[in-house]
Amino acid sequence: MPKTAEPTAKIKLDSNLQKFISKPLKLLINGKWVAAASGKTFDDIDPSTGDVIAQIAEGDREDINQAVKAARAAFDNGPWSKITPSERGKLIWKLADLLEKNTEEFAQIESLDNGKPVGVARAADVPLAVDLFRYMAGWATKIEGNTIPISVPYTPGAKYLAYTVREPVGVVGQVIPWNFPLLMAAWKLGPALAAGCTVILKPAEQTPLSAVRLGELIMEAGFPPGVVNIVTGFGETAGGALAGHPDVDKIAFTGSTEVGKIILKAAAGNLKKVSLELGGKSPNIIYKDADVETAIQGATSAIFFNHGQCCCAGSRLYVEEPIFDEVVQGIAKNAEKIKLGPGLDPKTEMGPLVSHDQFTRVCGYLESGKKEGAKAIVGGEKFGTKGYFVKPTVLKDVKQDMKVVQEEIFGPVVAAMPFKKDDALISQANDTTYGLAAGIWTKDISKAHSLAAKLRAGTVWVNCYNIFDAALPFGGYKESGWGREMGHDVLELYTEVKAVCVRI
Ligand code: ADP
Repeated sequence: MPKTAEPTAKIKLDSNLQKFISKPLKLLINGKWVAAASGKTFDDIDPSTGDVIAQIAEGDREDINQAVKAARAAFDNGPWSKITPSERGKLIWKLADLLEKNTEEFAQIESLDNGKPVGVARAADVPLAVDLFRYMAGWATKIEGNTIPISVPYTPGAKYLAYTVREPVGVVGQVIPWNFPLLMAAWKLGPALAAGCTVILKPAEQTPLSAVRLGELIMEAGFPPGVVNIVTGFGETAGGALAGHPDVDKIAFTGSTEVGKIILKAAAGNLKKVSLELGGKSPNIIYKDADVETAIQGATSAIFFNHGQCCCAGSRLYVEEPIFDEVVQGIAKNAEKIKLGPGLDPKTEMGPLVSHDQFTRVCGYLESGKKEGAKAIVGGEKFGTKGYFVKPTVLKDVKQDMKVVQEEIFGPVVAAMPFKKDDALISQANDTTYGLAAGIWTKDISKAHSLAAKLRAGTVWVNCYNIFDAALPFGGYKESGWGREMGHDVLELYTEVKAVCVRI
């Protein structure tokens, strides 16, 4: 049995946060906080208890229309079109400072709303978001084109000056998920604002709090009205209206592959640009020559970090046969020690899953694994009597074609398989519709590099896992998405290239 306690003890909420959630939360449109046009609100739920935390404005098509109008005006003729790159950079930097100043409040918001341990939000979610904004603030003044020597054979003797400029793509709709609510908002807003775009952000309905609070800081930092609009609401309604809106130039989405495909279809109406960061079923490969103890710790956190609710979770574990039992037992032992509880309990190491839907979905996969013959050597079931807790689970006796090996579970469940030969391993590791990330554990540097080259994944971690940095691009091959976020690659998602050719 995992060493667990019924979820009870919680830290006292930050007084700002208490005040923040005690009033109904509104939409940010054109620099003002407004109720939804329909007047509707929805419940925001604490996943550790199922209780209601706050009332959130339920934005829909009409609110999206208003937000797009504001973003359009701010982009086309408004202040954002006239502001200098340096001023844009300063505003983004100021937002980072404000966020950093409010680290504790944001860490608690993330913990309360998403369920993650408050210590993790304090150490990872908030500082990574701050760092992302600072990194992107620097890019605002460095988005450059080229001068290009051209020859034009059909105009002999003519001379030209040709150059390119990178211009902001325009009004951007951004739809984000619930697993890292604040960080995903930062990944989206940072580069869009640095590039000079205006934005309508639609946070996930399960975790709207941090985006709304960030909206308050955006106003405090001094961003002009209409530059960032935040519309809370549901996916099919508010999200769908945004993805299909004819005056939106680009849609950026992070979430499931299934919804990514819906977004793509909705975007076809005006052929808006689309970037997608979608699901994964990432292979994590441990060779017998690895530092086994480090690999066991790494593989444990590769799957259990954020309760497995990471698109890049190391959810397919391939272990070279001679060390298979040792590694799997080691991970199981670690899993047993993980303390489950509400995120706001300082002793908690793993919180609940984010929602009842997610809980049902993960439990469904555990059932399906069992039916198909997989064996849970630890976990394999829900935990506690309230909230959406699932025990960290290690499955063995799994086969490549089982649902638990092929489909994204998005929960604390790893499927472990032994391997003998490299050739078979590579085709197994790539045998998925996804291609987001992969992990390799070995001391043999040439083996590591040659395998990294063969894996069809946007990120390959060697002797580490879940290493993120604002400067490192992240995104997927195959059905894991289109485009790269972070690093300088992300600027391509938020800019258009204009070629100017002058006869001189
Ligand atoms: P998950 O399956 O992990 O909950 P989703 O892909 O459903 O993730 O959700 C990610 C984001 O996409 C959320 O903000 C959600 O509201 C939004 N969303 C869901 N369905 C749609 C849709 N049909 N159109 C646009 N956005 C959607």
